[in-house]
Amino acid sequence: MERVYNFSAGPAVMDEGVLQKAASELVCYKDKGMSVMEMSHRTSMFMDIYNEAVALVREVLSVPDDYAVLFMQGGATLQFSGVPLNLMSDSKVADYIDTGNFAHLALKEAEKYGTVNVAATSLAENYTFIPEMDTLQLTTGADYVYITTNNTIYGTRYVDFPDTKGVPLVADMSSNIASQPMDVSKFGVIFAGAQKNIGPAGICLMLIRKDLLGKQSPICPKLMNWKLQAEKDSMLNTPNTWGIYMMKLVFAWMKEKGGIDAFYENNQKKAALLYDYIDNSKLFSNPVQKKYRSLMNVTFVTGDIDKDAAFVKMCTANGLQNIKGHRNVGGMRASIYNAMPMAGVEKLVQVMREFEKQNL
Ligand SMILES: *Cc1c(COP(=O)(O)O)cnc(C)c1O
Repeated sequence: MERVYNFSAGPAVMDEGVLQKAASELVCYKDKGMSVMEMSHRTSMFMDIYNEAVALVREVLSVPDDYAVLFMQGGATLQFSGVPLNLMSDSKVADYIDTGNFAHLALKEAEKYGTVNVAATSLAENYTFIPEMDTLQLTTGADYVYITTNNTIYGTRYVDFPDTKGVPLVADMSSNIASQPMDVSKFGVIFAGAQKNIGPAGICLMLIRKDLLGKQSPICPKLMNWKLQAEKDSMLNTPNTWGIYMMKLVFAWMKEKGGIDAFYENNQKKAALLYDYIDNSKLFSNPVQKKYRSLMNVTFVTGDIDKDAAFVKMCTANGLQNIKGHRNVGGMRASIYNAMPMAGVEKLVQVMREFEKQNL
């Protein structure tokens, strides 16, 4: 069967070449006589894969030397607990900016461990924008400031970052990691569930400035303890070896294709094609403030539930899958992560144009 264009928000499209490479090595990895899934994580054959993965992450994301690279289990969500458990150590106050479903879940979780100050929220406007950075009510002496750089469900992204005056900035970058250049040194902690842009589900990439290791609460579960994990190459227990291997393939592919700058350029082109069409359409519209539009998740509606449903059906019939929007927003959402080719977006616009002609 032919592959479809998969616009899923996550787990999401992966590059076909990456999948083919994994398939070719699935049964026998190189000359090792076994699958990566069968390797002991303590062996040099697996440690070579791990070291290569770390080196590629460092190179492609320009990670400074004073940052630890971790591969944690439990997806991004486990770090909603991991962040307060590892960082709420001094004032036990943290500032959260509430810009969407995942930001909200993270602050609700953090409330179990300390005091959460919501420094700004766009909840009342159904998260259609990112609050302006000069309106944030930040706490002096907070343990950290927490943001979600791309809001997967609502289709917004940060275009600038808070001036935290030395307080560590923690970022959930699950849905836009590796999609645009990011100055890692601006952040204390970056984490990202892999299944949007960089690998399979169930593994979370973390970049942690090393001076922030060791601040964990006494009740922090051992497996969530960043310092111990950093000391043990993320192998306090058996890690997600297959996930680490797949991440290695994805970052190798990114490097081969020209790295972050090349992907960023392509991502901007893909998003512009879609937003330009929507802005000129008499049928489709996008609810997000233009300045904060996501490059990764493009939401749009017709304003009529039946037409939305008919459009989703037409997409499926044309090999464009998972275009239905999240229930919180309704309508449609096209997730156009790094691995979505321009041809997929062109096909989507073509089907939108056709649908609009039939439905105006
Ligand atoms: C998908 C997503 C998550 C949740 O990831 P899991 O791996 O399912 O825990 C968290 N934050 C953001 C921004 C996401 O897009």
